[in-house]
Amino acid sequence: MGSEKTPVTSRELMNQMLKRHYEEAYQAKESGKLVCWSTSIAPQELLTTMDIVTLYPENHAAALGARKDSPTFIEHTESMGYSSDLCSYARVNLAYTELGHSKAENMPLPDLLLCTSNICHTVIKWYENLSKELNIPLIMFDTPFNHTDEVQEHNAKYMKAQIYHAIEQLEEITGKSFDFDRLQEVMKISNETSEWWKKATDMAIHTPSPLNGFDLFNYMAIIVFARGTQEGRALFQLWHDELAEKVKLGQGPWNDREERYRILWDGIACWPYLNHNYKTLKNLGMNVVTSTYPKSWTVTYETGDIEGMAKAYSMNVYPNRNLNYDVENMVSLARKFQLDGIVFHSNRSCKLMDFRQYELQRRIYEECGVPSVIFDGDQTDPRLFSEAQYETRMQALAEMMEESKRKKGRD
Ligand code: SF4
Repeated sequence: MGSEKTPVTSRELMNQMLKRHYEEAYQAKESGKLVCWSTSIAPQELLTTMDIVTLYPENHAAALGARKDSPTFIEHTESMGYSSDLCSYARVNLAYTELGHSKAENMPLPDLLLCTSNICHTVIKWYENLSKELNIPLIMFDTPFNHTDEVQEHNAKYMKAQIYHAIEQLEEITGKSFDFDRLQEVMKISNETSEWWKKATDMAIHTPSPLNGFDLFNYMAIIVFARGTQEGRALFQLWHDELAEKVKLGQGPWNDREERYRILWDGIACWPYLNHNYKTLKNLGMNVVTSTYPKSWTVTYETGDIEGMAKAYSMNVYPNRNLNYDVENMVSLARKFQLDGIVFHSNRSCKLMDFRQYELQRRIYEECGVPSVIFDGDQTDPRLFSEAQYETRMQALAEMMEESKRKKGRD
């Protein structure tokens, strides 16, 4: 850490970790260490065990989006002939790979790639393309879609075999033997980090919630890259303790406004408009107390159980689960977090997460009477979002929630 001030709050620690994440990756690359690019919810345990520095293009693209530097990259990729229908994270990253520099945030090019198909199948073609263009090895971990409620036995065997195959590939790429004792330690830390992430985000069950829900999106950048590290575990424990203290003191999400409505945000944030989206909600007294998206990083399993770990990567990510799971999950979140409403972000990039939203909306309302709205947007392509549409939809939701409160006689 050099001369950096010792962080006192979780926010300070988070900011330091974010800053160091890319700086240390450049230093590692210069010193001859291998750098891997990986999809966001992948078995990082294998890479951490092998001491391979891992970066996450989705995280990086989100940072570029939040700092309003994504249009250059998106336009570049489209000028190369890629469709504007392709996920904007992929469009940002494919251009970054060619251009190699961004005004907002930079990361070194990879020596290898790890791709897991649990989030979508776009990533398979995206990573195959990177592998071909950069002429580097791709480790693929394929997690078949769960049409059934539980992981099928044959799929569990298939995924376990792939983990062992990935270990062999890593041994070949690094020229080193895989240390299974070290893997146990990394699995233990990864589980504990996930548990602390869950405990912290669950603090929002309190009324008022001590958590201003857009913080979920900020802290999420860290759970993506630091799940297998002691520092990541310490950060989420500290964040949890801070939130617990706020609950004790009866403090809500804001100093200058009361939490009037408790809502769930479905889907990825609109990074280029994060501030606008947040302020619009806050002005209406709407606090995001939970989301379907950050839950995907609570990847837990028995330490040492390779098959259990493979299954966790398949089961934990909701785009890899069937519609019944999605409905049950959101209904249970509605009850657990005492939701007044739901905001569905119909994210142009992410078809797999979105195409179920209208049916989800209908079934959730039928099961628990929670009103919701859907707005159009995109995680990193600013051309696909309208402030006016968003504001009108949020006002409509506030009116529906008010009406529903009135009917329930809660006020
Ligand atoms: S945003 Fe959606 S389509 Fe893009 S990589 Fe993530 S899961 Fe896949």
